Amino acid sequence: MKDISIIAVGGYNEIGRNMTAIRIGKDIVVMDMGIRLDRVQIHEDTDVEAMHAADLINMGAIPDDSIMENVDGTVRAIACTHGHLDHIGAISKLAHKYHAPIIASPFTADLINQEIKSEKIFGVKNPLHVMKAGERFQVTQDIELEFIRVQHSIVDCVFAAIHTPMGTIVYANDFKIDRSPTLGEPPDFARLRALGKQGVLALITETTNASISGKTPSEKIAKDLVWDVLLGTEESKSGVMVTTFSSHIARIRAIIEAAHKMGRKPVLLGRSMEKYWGTAVRTGYAGQGDVTVFGRRKSVDKALKRIMTEGKDKYLPIMTGHQGEPGAILSRVANGETDYLVESGDKVIFSAGIIPQPLNESNRHTVVTKLKMRGGRIYDNVHVSGHACREDHWELLRMIQPEHVIPSHGNLVSHTSYLMMAEETGYSLGSNFHLVRNGQELLID
Ligand SMILES: [Zn+2]
Repeated sequence: MKDISIIAVGGYNEIGRNMTAIRIGKDIVVMDMGIRLDRVQIHEDTDVEAMHAADLINMGAIPDDSIMENVDGTVRAIACTHGHLDHIGAISKLAHKYHAPIIASPFTADLINQEIKSEKIFGVKNPLHVMKAGERFQVTQDIELEFIRVQHSIVDCVFAAIHTPMGTIVYANDFKIDRSPTLGEPPDFARLRALGKQGVLALITETTNASISGKTPSEKIAKDLVWDVLLGTEESKSGVMVTTFSSHIARIRAIIEAAHKMGRKPVLLGRSMEKYWGTAVRTGYAGQGDVTVFGRRKSVDKALKRIMTEGKDKYLPIMTGHQGEPGAILSRVANGETDYLVESGDKVIFSAGIIPQPLNESNRHTVVTKLKMRGGRIYDNVHVSGHACREDHWELLRMIQPEHVIPSHGNLVSHTSYLMMAEETGYSLGSNFHLVRNGQELLID
């Protein structure tokens, strides 16, 4: 019999910089290598691409994988569940240390490829293996990796099932239980139930929204909210700007569709809009949406100037800056740094919540105040989350009935909320429910 252990490398004490290593005997499968951006953003002009791994580890920005040196085994595969930076953002800094392939779904793999190409210090030469949900990868003779389709706030998100001779480990990081998504299919419930029937040894799960009661609304509800704000108004001649997550392709497509219904031209503005939309075009997720994209500052400024001359009522600009990030397009517009004039009665729609950190709250407050001072009307939080709430977590637990549960991707507060739900479902802390902190290895009996 081989023994199995879970090594919490990053993302167990915080939201961000996810990395988990699963050791089966002397073979290791690594799940995710992410970055924690709030640790980077507090320094002005930080060029992550030009920073050394050790410095980023010292800042607490990427997982401290030095603990891997004490783990008795060899990394055979690195798998990433989706393209958010807290899951792939450290690949370019850490993956080259391991002689193992990187496995990811098409959209995620395209983003990883871009991360690796823009890296200025390390040459990451690990082979990149593209695998769709529903497919399997033979890691070693007796270890198999399977991707299972789920929904989240980015397309092509998967659960990973690691099949070992001692049982199956399910890695559920991140997800929402969305039965009516606007892009892609609902989670593969049949497969999850089948896994539950066969028996799941352990579930490693995110806990981001575990303290929020009830169920996370479907992305269909978010589309309704966006459409209601954009189309349900008598004030149809005013200037309208929308800001949202540039990686949230489903949401951007809902906004583009609304623009066409309004008789306006949708325009995507900002470097990260260009990056993610380009990825969506290459991987087939962009659909038929007739949209123009401007990434670089000069072309963005030109586009905004053209919108002003041709008339704000002819366009729907969709831009970066929903967290009030200085330097993002919305902040530049609010500061009057572009030719786009915010006038009395113009609408600014935030199709995003505030990511709860003092830095974001302060930045967002600044940008909203500046927009209001120019007469802008603010529509806040036209959004639903991409993370499962408490009852969604309960449902997943019942569906796959794991022998052991390990919360990840959260802090002690969200882990404890999850624990209280799990206790009601029959789990007990210390016997089959395990709280693990960054840097610890948990042996599963
Ligand atoms: Zn995510």
